Amino acid sequence: MQSRLRTLMLCGVVVWAGCAAPNPEGVVGEEPAAKERPAADSAEEVRQDWAIVVHGGAGTPPRDMSDERRQGYEQALLGAVAAGEEHLAAGGTAVDAVELMVVLLEDDERFNAGKGAVFTHDAVHELDAAVMDGSDRSCGAVAGVKTVRNPIRLARLVMDRSPHVFLIGEGAEQFATEMEVERVENSWFDTEGRRKSLERALASEKEEKHGTVGAVALDTHGNLAAATSTGGLTNKRFGRVGDVPVIGAGTYADNACCGISGTGKGEQFIRHTVARSIAARVQFEGLSIDEAARRVFAEHLDDGDGGVIMIDRAGRIGMHYNTGGMYRAWADASGTRGVAIWEQE
Ligand code: ASP
Repeated sequence: MQSRLRTLMLCGVVVWAGCAAPNPEGVVGEEPAAKERPAADSAEEVRQDWAIVVHGGAGTPPRDMSDERRQGYEQALLGAVAAGEEHLAAGGTAVDAVELMVVLLEDDERFNAGKGAVFTHDAVHELDAAVMDGSDRSCGAVAGVKTVRNPIRLARLVMDRSPHVFLIGEGAEQFATEMEVERVENSWFDTEGRRKSLERALASEKEEKHGTVGAVALDTHGNLAAATSTGGLTNKRFGRVGDVPVIGAGTYADNACCGISGTGKGEQFIRHTVARSIAARVQFEGLSIDEAARRVFAEHLDDGDGGVIMIDRAGRIGMHYNTGGMYRAWADASGTRGVAIWEQE
């Protein structure tokens, strides 16, 4: 319990830094966690023009990771943020920005989404994704797709071009054909690292790596959006689907409160409707996103379950996790930007 609290407190420092003066190194100052921050309503007048936060999964990133490897992750996350920033600064929408950023992370094989997705028990890939537009709570999700290069694009099409919100398996593939999205052989998603992970999992060695990707944005029109994409869990069976495409569990956005993308143990996020529970506490209890996340994690999740990235309607950025680390990067219109994997020193 003590280590969890410590992680959360330190994480709170990062969040506050994201709302304070520009801090290029992402290094943080005084710990303000004891003082509850104002809810979005009371800070409307200081609303950021735009804000972005992305994640590349929560888990136990090895502390002895080589500099080259760490920099590779950081550049990938910052590259996605830069693309989102360019889009938002030009007046683009939050929902386009989160889709764009997630496509970039799906195409990067470091992450467990799109290319580089984990293997199922049967040594194939089954991908899940969801997007939500906070301006009208429209949303789209897909689960168990096997040949769609960028599942987040298909989720977006479910939202925009179908009367439904959630398509799975064969039906989702059929919809992909009708929408003429880019298709690939299932083996196109293969990577050596993920195959080894499956081998270790099959040999019953503990396999704790994550790498789901997600993005949340607030645009200059005041609209929030969230998107998440994943290969799920290594060695998953029986058509298992996690929280990512379940609206309210791993993905949620509503202009009334905040946008959220989660990563971690999907079953836990579904059981406790983590994203919507945080959003509801912001909306109905007037809590800040940080405090709402802290309470939901403390009351419902176990140490090591995962993390969330969040933006409230004033453009404040929150990042909260109870794992060893969470790959993440952020930026806003005031010039604040940063990237981090572990808690800040
Ligand atoms: N939440 C994802 C799932 O359960 C996995 C992850 O975030 O690593 O499918």
